[in-house]
Formats: sequence, structure tokens, C-alpha cells
Amino acid sequence: MTRRATKIVATLGPASSDPALLEQMIRAGVNVVRLNFSHGKAQDHIDRATLVRAAAIRAGREVAIMADLQGPKIRVGKFAEGKIMLEPGQKFVLDAARVELGDIHAVGLDYKALPSEVKAGDVLLLNDGLIVITVDSVKGAAVHTTVKLGGELSNNKGINKQGGGLTAPALTAKDMDDIKTAMSFQADYVAVSFPKNATDMEMARQLCNVAGAEYGHKPGLIAKIERAEAIPRLEEILLASDGIMVARGDLAVEVGNAVVPALQKRMIKLAREHDKVVITATQMMESMISNPVPTRAEVSDVANAVLDGTDAVMLSAETAAGKYPLETVLEMAKICEAAEAAEELALDADFTGRTFSRIDQSIALGALFTAHHLGAKAIVALTDSGSTALWMSRYLIHVPIYALTSNLVTQRRMTLYRNVHGLLMDTSAVRDTALEQAERHLKSLGVVQSGDVYAITCGEPMGAPGGTNMLKICRVG
Ligand code: PGA
Ligand code: MN
Repeated sequence: MTRRATKIVATLGPASSDPALLEQMIRAGVNVVRLNFSHGKAQDHIDRATLVRAAAIRAGREVAIMADLQGPKIRVGKFAEGKIMLEPGQKFVLDAARVELGDIHAVGLDYKALPSEVKAGDVLLLNDGLIVITVDSVKGAAVHTTVKLGGELSNNKGINKQGGGLTAPALTAKDMDDIKTAMSFQADYVAVSFPKNATDMEMARQLCNVAGAEYGHKPGLIAKIERAEAIPRLEEILLASDGIMVARGDLAVEVGNAVVPALQKRMIKLAREHDKVVITATQMMESMISNPVPTRAEVSDVANAVLDGTDAVMLSAETAAGKYPLETVLEMAKICEAAEAAEELALDADFTGRTFSRIDQSIALGALFTAHHLGAKAIVALTDSGSTALWMSRYLIHVPIYALTSNLVTQRRMTLYRNVHGLLMDTSAVRDTALEQAERHLKSLGVVQSGDVYAITCGEPMGAPGGTNMLKICRVG
């Protein structure tokens, strides 16, 4: 069993849909598989979810499925020739009323409100910021612009406005349909694209819970932080979500590349302080789309995200469409492990001045503190909802946390928690029996051996959510 604490999210795509390859990728360290709803039809996602569940069973690992909604990504229409070449200085029109295919002078828009939301002087970024155009004037449905930074523009490329300010609602009609699809295969997490505030997340949660009710399922919700407007509202968005994604692709286009590293650090810190999980995403191993080894800069980027305290690092095109999906996962796992070994732990400082209002949380953090200072081999948490493991995992320590649960949904949810290894076990037995079972289970997995000391938490009566009220320090017999 791996000791790696940081989790790996990998996007499934044509490059990783071969069952044997996917199984190898899961063995190599993928903890969460991301299904990108920007591509493919409902049935494709259903088939892929089946593929993931089957591969996970063959690999003998539990993985979570994250359904990533497309959201209101604003895009140009299609071109008669598939693409055009924009030259600096030339005029170009984004025309919401255009029905014919685009050409070198103008193209249609899928977001009809764009002309009413931009004005002369605004800077628009096309194709992830590779092309920059400025607005000269808006005449009816037509946005007249001048190209500042040219380049090739092909069908359906994205449009962002520098500084943010486009008001498209976070959930489109397509997203609402996609939520239903995702709930039909009980996606463990749903990632919401471009939320602006807590209301967007609350709305997504409601839709997920309604669509999930039929299957008795409630997914975890991840807010993708990728709009300028979301930054001042991070706190309220965090409170309405189970976690966030530092979605550096679109975010960088809206707020400028240079401020993203500092925002990443702030988001990771804030998420952990609020007992939420955080995924660092986009271009982490970008060059491995076509090369078998990463660049030095990419290695540093992944390592620094780990040192910032991220729960997970994410792969997008690297595993969805790249030439080396398996190699990328192996490489990423290695980088995570090496960075974790170099972490500076500050548990005592983290605990200074802390107060608790909940019994279960006090036990969780008491176990953490004790295990750290005792040099225990492991922390074991018998948990129903996974909260105990989540609280414990908000602090960096080098003692691995084994979360034993009888709830498969909880086990899958915990795949995203840093330093938590979720294991299935029937936790309904009376206390002493359950504790014996837990020790036997961990011994059989080679996690602990005779003579090792570990800390274990549980609640009496057993199996009641939120009931953790006991900490025991044990020596393995
Ligand atoms: P995307 O989101 O890959 O769905 O665009 C991540 C990002 O914008 O960084
Ligand atoms: Mn994005």
C-alpha cells in the first residue's frame, strides 16, 4: 500500500480509455478520475464511469469519479474553414447575430449576452489567452475589435474578459442535464465550473441532491475557482462547497498569469482552514502531453503545490489526450512523495491558541497531536461520515491516517483527502470486537506489525455519525 499522502486526479479521455491502461494508471497512483463534461455525450460518460469502476475493482483500489461540468464557458462559433489566422492590427467582429460560419472578418457567438456585457476599451482573450483583442465599439449584436496579439483561432475556442465581469449563470441547461447523468452513475464528486458566489454552489447542490435522491446519493461539491469575481468571495464559496479547485487555466486568463501562484497559496491555506479539500489543476505536467519526461519547471510546480498543502494535483490533457498517460502518473507520484518527505511540519504552531466546540473534533485532533509526538506508526479512525479523517487531514504530519468505514460512499469521498487511506470494514460490531478487527485488518495489510504503536479513534455507541468520543493508544500484539 502506498505511503503517498497527496492524491492524484487524472482526466479520462481517448488516451486513457483502454481498460488495461486505465487499470495500470490506477495501480500507478490515480485516486480520482475526472470525467470532463465539456466533451462527449451522456452515454459516453455513463460508459466511462462503468469503465472506471471496473478498472478500480481489477486494480483492487477504490477510486472516486469526479464529474466536471462544462459551465458557461463562452465560446466563438465555428469557421467555414475550421480555423483562421488573426494578424495583429486587423479588425475582427464577434457577432452574436451571425448565423453563417465564421471567416477572417467575423465569427458567431454562443453567448448572446456578450455584446451587452462589454464596452469599448475592454480586453478579450481568446483560446486561453493566446490571442488578445480589444473592443473598439459595440453596435447591436456586433462587438467590433482590433487584434493586439494574433494567432490561429479555430472552432469553438473560449473567450474570457480580462478582469472578469461576464455574468453568464454558473449552471447552464446542459449542466443541469449533465448533473442527472452524473447522478445516474453516482459520481462521487461534481465540479462546478465558473461559480461566482455561494448561491451558484447552493444551486448546484440542490440540483445534485434532487437528481441524486432517486439513487440515494449525495455527491461532494467542488467549486472551480476560475473567475476574477470568485476571488473576493472565496470564503462564502468555501462554506457552500466541500472543496475547491485552483483552476489555473481560466483563472490565469482572467486575472493575469503573474498573480496566480500567490492566489494558489492563499486558496490552499484558506481551504484547509475551513476544513475543505483543495485540488491544484492545469498544466502541471503539460509537456508530458508529447514528451516522456517533464520539464524541471513542471517538477517544481507539482512539488510546490504539495508543499503549499494541496490535497490533490490534477492532470488534464496529459492523461486525457497525451502520449504518455501512465508515465505522467508515475512521474507525478514520485514528485509528490519526494516533496512530502521535505515538508516542514508545524503541528505545534498550528495548534497554538486552538479551541474546540465539538467532542468528535477534539478527539480527532487529540489523536493527531499524540500520534505525532509519540512517533506512532499510524492513526486509525473508525468513521462513518469521514469527518474525523477530514479534520485530521487538515494538518500536515508524517503519520499516515487509515480511515476505516463501512460506508462505500465515504470511502470513495476520502480518496481526495490528503494523507488519508480509506479502507472498508464493518464498523458496527461492539467496540472491543471492532478494535480487534481493525488491528487485524491493518496487520494483514502490512500497515502495522507486532510491537508498533498506533492511535485509534472511535465512537460509542459504534457506527453513529458524529459520535467519535474515544481515543486509544495501542501496541500491536
Ligand atoms: P477546465 O478547468 O480544464 O475545465 O477549463 C480547469 C482550468 O480552467 O484550469
Ligand atoms: Mn476552466
